[in-house]
Parts: sequence; C-alpha cells; structure tokens
Amino acid sequence: MQPIQLFVPTFRIDETLDAIRECLEKGWTGLGFKTVQFEQAWKDYTGLPYAHFLNSATSGIHLALAQLKAEHGWQDGDEIITTPLTFVSTNHAILYENLTPAFADVDETLCLSPESVEKHITPRTRAVIFVGMGGNPGQYDAVRDLCRARGLKLILDAAHMTGTRLHGRHIGHDADAAVFSFQAVKNLPTADSGMICWPTPELDAAARKWSWMGINKDTYARTSGGGSYSWYYDVETVGYKYHGNSIMAAIGLVAIKYVDEDNRYRRQIAAWYDELLAEESHIRRIPMAPDCEPSRHLYQVLIDDRDEVVSALNRAQIYPGVHYRDNTLYNMYRASHGTCPNAAYASDHLLSLPIHLRLTREDVERVAQELKAAVRERVY
Ligand SMILES: *Cc1c(COP(=O)(O)O)cnc(C)c1O
Repeated sequence: MQPIQLFVPTFRIDETLDAIRECLEKGWTGLGFKTVQFEQAWKDYTGLPYAHFLNSATSGIHLALAQLKAEHGWQDGDEIITTPLTFVSTNHAILYENLTPAFADVDETLCLSPESVEKHITPRTRAVIFVGMGGNPGQYDAVRDLCRARGLKLILDAAHMTGTRLHGRHIGHDADAAVFSFQAVKNLPTADSGMICWPTPELDAAARKWSWMGINKDTYARTSGGGSYSWYYDVETVGYKYHGNSIMAAIGLVAIKYVDEDNRYRRQIAAWYDELLAEESHIRRIPMAPDCEPSRHLYQVLIDDRDEVVSALNRAQIYPGVHYRDNTLYNMYRASHGTCPNAAYASDHLLSLPIHLRLTREDVERVAQELKAAVRERVY
C-alpha cells in the first residue's frame, strides 16, 4: 500500500527548468528581471494594485508591522490583536518589532472571531492580524468593518489564500497590507518566497527600500538605468535583506499559470471528503465563509482522541497534520495561556487530512474509510 502524505507539491518540471535556465543564461538570478515579471503576473492574477516580491511571508508580515509602526509612530509595547491558531511566524513578527501580541479567540471557522477581537481592543491597540485559515476567509468582512470603525490597521496573513476569492474577487483588496506565502508546500509553491501587497504606491515604494537594506535604488534599476551615477545610492533607513530573487520568481511564474486549475482540484478533493464524511457526527467539518471560492490549502476536521486517531491512521500509512497548536501553549507565549478556549479546544481536536494534486478519488476514499474506522473504534 502506498503511503498517503499530507502535502505533496506538484511542479511542472520541464517548464520550470526552462524558466530557471533563462535566468542562468542571462546571468541574472537576483533581485530584478524575473522578480519584476512575477510581481506583474501577481498583480494581473489578483487585481491587486501593488505587489512586492519577498524571500518569505514571514519577512512580509514583519515588514508590514515595521512599516506601519514607523509610518504611524507606534510605540514599543503597543498591542496587535492576533490569533493563537496560526504558524508562529505571524506572532513572532509582532515580537520582532517590540510590539505586544494580544490573543483573541477563533470562531467555528478557525479564524478570528470579531466579537473576541472587539473585547481585546484597548487604547494601545494599533492593528489586527487576520489569518485566513486553510484559505477560508471566515468572518473577515466583519473584522475589516470593526477595524475601520475603531481606527485599527488590518494586516491579512494570506499565507494560505492564494486563489481565494471572496464576493467574486481575489482576497486582499481591503486590507492595509496583505501578505502571501509561496513556501514549498503552499498552494503556489516555489521553495521559499512571498508577496506583500500594499494599497498605496508610497507604501509599496517604501517596502522596496525596507526589503533591500534601506537602499534607495535597487541593483536592477542601477544596472538598467545606465548613466555615470549608476553606482550611486543613499541609505535612508536600517532595512532588511528581505527581497525575493529571480530563481524563486521563475518557479512562481510557471506555478501561477496553473494555480486556479490546481485549486479547483483541491476543491474537488474537499467535496469528496465532505460527501464521504457527511454522515459522521463524530467527525466535525469546518464551515466555509459564504460567497467564497476558497483556495482549500487545508481540509480540516475536529475529532475526539485526536492523537490516538493519528496513530491509527499512521499505522494505515496515512500521514495527516495538525494546523495548529494553540500558540499560547508554547513557552514563548505562555503569559497568554488559557485565554482563548476555542483555540485551545481546536488545538486538541484538529486534524488536517491529506490534500494535494496527486491524490485520486480512491486515495480520498481510503483516507475517509480509515478515519471513520479509527473514530468509530474510539467512540463505540
Ligand atoms: C506558511 C505560513 C507563514 C509563513 O510563510 P513563509 O513564507 O514560510 O515565511 C505565515 N503564516 C501562516 C499562516 C503560514 O501558514
């Protein structure tokens, strides 16, 4: 029997190698060339007005906070409302800027609950980071409206959301910054890279300096601009080395052509799981936001005795995952432990079932059957 893994990325190998070969033949693997093309392709794909290609989404979330902090004069210790149910990147980025994570709880979609966000607003609250879990926008609209009403910035951690469309258009339009991940197992896999999308040309231009050491002209502009001052630049802020490179962009430029087709198949897999697990009251599925075409980065369920069920699945050569452990269980964030009961419950009961493009209907049936058998054995 073949093992069934949680994630197996699919690359169009020959086409990707040709795109990488172009970089090698041109002698340009760094910032510029393919990164410029990929930013344009991303803007065309999403309809977002600005996009800056980065080396990861972690860098992007940090950059979003760093830029907003500088722009609005936020002070050390100011509070950012965030979720405990996320990859730790989201919350570490808050600490990188000496800001304070204020953990609000999640709702039944596993995304931030607007009611809980509202309860955590204090005079020192500056922003909310919303994570679209598994590509699901949850109650994003309500959180956005709350942020607007209360004068808070909204950062969208859209690491799972490449291809998610809400009310007919790609997610990210109404955030103060939207950050996407093209890490190795995300819906648009490169190896490591990400995109930060700002709503204004000023913030986009600033991001380009911040991501390249604070230098006010990138090497591509200097090389292609020519002229006798092409070597000359100024350094305006202590920036970071966060920009993306042409090899990652070359991989992304091929992947972006297929991501809608790939996401359609992810939604097909999700529909199969929905159908096969429908009658099982002990396997609870996660509701999707209405009027949404989700990227389906994940297919999650809630079950009792999760760890024992995982062991049973592993014995059947099925390797699911858990997204995520309640971050307040980590030593780093223990001061907030116990403040988010829904996230704590999810952390103990969540299971992410295998979802990737190589799975067949038969594979999905095998996962569903083994899961049902393992759950029934524990319940009855
Ligand atoms: C993957 C992920 C990140 C970080 O993305 P990188 O590109 O790996 O830095 C951030 N948030 C969430 C929710 C993620 O899943």
